[in-house]
Amino acid sequence: MQVDLAIKSKNIVTPLEIIDGMILISDGKIVDIISSVSYGEEKETVLLDFPIEDVGDHVVMPGIIDPHVHINEPGRTEWEGFDTATKAAAAGGITTLVDMPLNSSPVTTNKNNFQLKLDAATNKMHVHCGFWGGVIPDNENELEELLSTGALGLKAFLTHSGIDDFPNTNAEHLRHALKILKKSDKPLLVHCELDVAHHGEKQLLENPHSYAAWLNSRPNAMEDEAIKMMIGLCRETGAHIHIVHLSSANSIEQIQKAKAEGLPLTVETAQHYLFFDSESIPDGDTRYKCAPPIRDKANREKLWEALGNGTIDFVATDHSPAPPVLKEITSGNLHQAWGGIAGLQFALPALWTGALERNYSVTDISKWLCENPAKFLKLDSHKGKIAKGFDADLCIWMPANNFILKEEMIHHRHKITPYMDQELYGIVKQTYLSGNKIYGDGLFYNLNRGNIILKN
Ligand SMILES: [Zn+2]
Repeated sequence: MQVDLAIKSKNIVTPLEIIDGMILISDGKIVDIISSVSYGEEKETVLLDFPIEDVGDHVVMPGIIDPHVHINEPGRTEWEGFDTATKAAAAGGITTLVDMPLNSSPVTTNKNNFQLKLDAATNKMHVHCGFWGGVIPDNENELEELLSTGALGLKAFLTHSGIDDFPNTNAEHLRHALKILKKSDKPLLVHCELDVAHHGEKQLLENPHSYAAWLNSRPNAMEDEAIKMMIGLCRETGAHIHIVHLSSANSIEQIQKAKAEGLPLTVETAQHYLFFDSESIPDGDTRYKCAPPIRDKANREKLWEALGNGTIDFVATDHSPAPPVLKEITSGNLHQAWGGIAGLQFALPALWTGALERNYSVTDISKWLCENPAKFLKLDSHKGKIAKGFDADLCIWMPANNFILKEEMIHHRHKITPYMDQELYGIVKQTYLSGNKIYGDGLFYNLNRGNIILKN
């Protein structure tokens, strides 16, 4: 057996246990995992004639998979582009991400635009990238082609998306899309907020700098009603529905019931809903603005519990940056500001810091950031685990070490994030993509090696 490289560690996260051993890599794949007991410390240099990267007690985990990233190229590359986003991903231990059909221009809602997306990404992908397509009211005849061209599934909104070229859909549009999706065995991803009558919008107009006013303008009821509607459509059509970025803990119960009923429903939440709480967010700080909003501490603790017991399947960043002017950084106007949080590069430390406080383990992190996202994307035959035959996409990190997040560490296009100046645990030391080191101690190697992931 030709082995190109071995990575040796006292903490390799395999599906069953954390082992002390070596991962053997050949041609971008993991060809074997051997425990230190079987090769013996003193024999190794004599018997093993391939390069060994000994990372000591650093954790070696599967590469992180982030199924929810807004890259915005082509058309809004000044917000974020493939080069900067996938460098940030590499620095964060992320080896696979899936790009959202908005906020690029054009939006990814037909075959032609899908091709423009692939063209824009080519030669700028430092990690593997897949792509979601979009459902909007007038593209019902484009969906089949969009899926057969390779989109991994479709995304829809039930309320205004933030950009006018990606209008929201209603139940009728979604019934049609779900029929098509079911045939191709792909999911419908839904931004679950439904316009319900409330007084919050007026309050926000009167107090545009107040975080409480922003929070009240997007009440739990908006999410809870939308989720209720989507569970109904899931039951009616039998198609896979995925709730993106769950924020309202009020909906956990109805999700649990739907899952217990056997409905093909999956759920993600985002790091920022698990990290921040509305009580600690200062007024006039638009970096925290996202929709649905970050809610209170009690809500956050319930989300952690739902993640812990498997009601929430995994965690994705929903990295959605914008230039400082659109983010209204200077004015602090929460009504005007672009809603979206940038945090792709810090997916791991943002989650791990909160997980540590609540006694979760590195194995839980691997399940939430690697194994379950791979399952959701149906890439679990070769990604999301350290196992024989799997892709050698790896994240090597130090769980016990912490850092203070500073601007100069950030590889996103804009250095705007609510995690700024936070003390975070979990330092990513190295990232391997298909057996090649792409990041190590602040430096990038082997750029442009990411693959386009298509599913027909
Ligand atoms: Zn999003």
